[in-house]
Amino acid sequence: MGIDRAKIERGVRLILEAIGEDPEREGLRETPHRVARMWEELLGEREEGLDKATRLFQVDTGDQLTLIKDIHLIGICEHHLLPFIGKAHIAYLPEGGRVVGLNTIVRWANALAKRPQLQEQLTRDLAEKIMQEMNPKGALVIIEAEHVCMMIQGMRRPGSIFVTYTKQGPVDITAEVWSLIKGLG
Ligand SMILES: [Zn+2]
Repeated sequence: MGIDRAKIERGVRLILEAIGEDPEREGLRETPHRVARMWEELLGEREEGLDKATRLFQVDTGDQLTLIKDIHLIGICEHHLLPFIGKAHIAYLPEGGRVVGLNTIVRWANALAKRPQLQEQLTRDLAEKIMQEMNPKGALVIIEAEHVCMMIQGMRRPGSIFVTYTKQGPVDITAEVWSLIKGLG
């Protein structure tokens, strides 16, 4: 489903009126349009990023673990519609030498982030996508992120990092991944 920019623009105008602003004043006149463009960039084309056919490569990996660290990620918290910004670390133990390109994994992460959701959900979706597409022996996804809603309201705790992680598949690779991450510093 595409993003209905006109509808977002109407909504933003309503918010501006609700907070006592004049949506027609100079500085605000283009704001609904800009906000709609921003939401489209944040949440648009999710399906396109997910549905593209996956190119699998065959390599003689033996029992070699693959770890992709520090994938920059912007998610949208479904409770406040504010971003959480952080990094994903993804590891998997291939089955039968099946691997995918780095770009593919980054594309899945970015596409799955394009909807309002909890960080836990995104973490699980990413692990499930990897299992579904590659069927590795084991997969592990860690996301660490700062939530803007936490930074600006209530307890106001900038610097608090939410860490979520999930593992999937018959082989538990948690211990190897942690020691690998620690070794990398
Ligand atoms: Zn929130």
